[in-house]
Amino acid sequence: MVSAIYPGSFDPMTNGHLDIVVRAGELFDRVTVSVYDSDSQKTLFSTQERVDMFRDAVKDLPNVQVEPFSGLVVDFAQSLGAKVIVRGLRVGYDFEYEFEMALMNRTLAPDVELVCLMSSLEYQFVHSTRVREVAQLGGDISGLVPPLVLQALKEKFRTKVT
Ligand code: ADP
Repeated sequence: MVSAIYPGSFDPMTNGHLDIVVRAGELFDRVTVSVYDSDSQKTLFSTQERVDMFRDAVKDLPNVQVEPFSGLVVDFAQSLGAKVIVRGLRVGYDFEYEFEMALMNRTLAPDVELVCLMSSLEYQFVHSTRVREVAQLGGDISGLVPPLVLQALKEKFRTKVT
């Protein structure tokens, strides 16, 4: 049995994140989406909101669960008995950061391995930051996030998001 965690801020989750977790769920016996319990001043959505939105999006995936965490990613992985950290790579954006992080994590926990999945073509350009900005300005992000997230963004900004 190989368990993996998929950590991130997910503020909010996007279809790019969902694509990664669906594919990870096909590779590993259990995947725990691990929502970083960050200072709510710094995120648009609270930790509970971010957890709830991701839980709704993966409710039909029996081997995927969603939990908040704080502290080190490797500590959370070890607390769950997870041997793998899954991350998504978008072209040109994520590689240097992930490489550096992986080396640090390996120093901290040599028994936890990083597995990066390449973002699917249609989600290469999807960033939570950009999704928040476009939603705030009333742009159409309906193809980029699940319906519940679209609704939540609409309520946050009380603006026209179609
Ligand atoms: P962080 O908190 O490090 O910014 P995020 O919460 O935005 O990370 O995302 C968590 C993980 O999902 C990261 O590995 C990130 O590279 C990946 N990711 C984000 N957006 C996409 C996307 N559109 N396609 C594939 N992977 C993505």
